Amino acid sequence: MPELPDVEGFRRFFARHAQGRRVIRVTAPDPQVLRGTSVQGLGRALHGRRFAAPRRHGKWLFAPTDDGPVVALHFGMSGRLEWSSDGSGRHRHDRLVFVLDTGELRVSSMRKLGGAWLARHERDLADITGPLGPDAKTATREQLAGLLAERRGGVKSALMDQAVVAGPGNLVVDETLWRARVHPARPAASLSADELAAIHRSLREVLEGAVPRGRVPRDDDWLTGVRDVADPRCPRCGAAVRSDTVAGRSTRWCPDCQPETA
Ligand SMILES: [Zn+2]
Repeated sequence: MPELPDVEGFRRFFARHAQGRRVIRVTAPDPQVLRGTSVQGLGRALHGRRFAAPRRHGKWLFAPTDDGPVVALHFGMSGRLEWSSDGSGRHRHDRLVFVLDTGELRVSSMRKLGGAWLARHERDLADITGPLGPDAKTATREQLAGLLAERRGGVKSALMDQAVVAGPGNLVVDETLWRARVHPARPAASLSADELAAIHRSLREVLEGAVPRGRVPRDDDWLTGVRDVADPRCPRCGAAVRSDTVAGRSTRWCPDCQPETA
């Protein structure tokens, strides 16, 4: 499921292929991905315009054009971008296609895509995204500590909430809490200043390791690396990794490194 590092990879991909390129037309093999607009509406708004530099906030990708409309993309469960310079190789999972003067940028998704929206102006984006916290890549320690301290629920649930901090998903959060040695069900409001600092530092480390690769790495010394193996062991201490549903999501943690009560 695309999280901040994946969407950062999509941003780079979009910039490499589509930035500065002119839109010839838009097709939507799956019109259901279009939210609040139609393929005709999107095509009319974008026709003849050039894409400017794309931006990311959390898991959102914003693709502004040179003078006005902005396409907002959310990749949902399994969305991704594809490029074809000669228009060949269409795939049945292609949901939305931007036909540019140099080739086709395709939004593809095996499962349901989050969606594509059209904002007439930058100022309309907040209505589309709903409340978003600061981006996880740049959130300061004070911001994060303040946001977590106000929360009633568990720390994993808080970190997954895009209105608290934008970008983390299931893998980033599990990895962050494992590095910070904090149990995922700990009440967010009960965290000590040291634990909050560790969470902020760990989140930074996880993103610094993951963003350049455009995904959360499955390295041997990452918790993600043992996520789906039989009999997973903590890469740090060797204890058997625990697995259960926390905050409604399949969660992994080390019972030795992340005791339930600090
Ligand atoms: Zn451990």
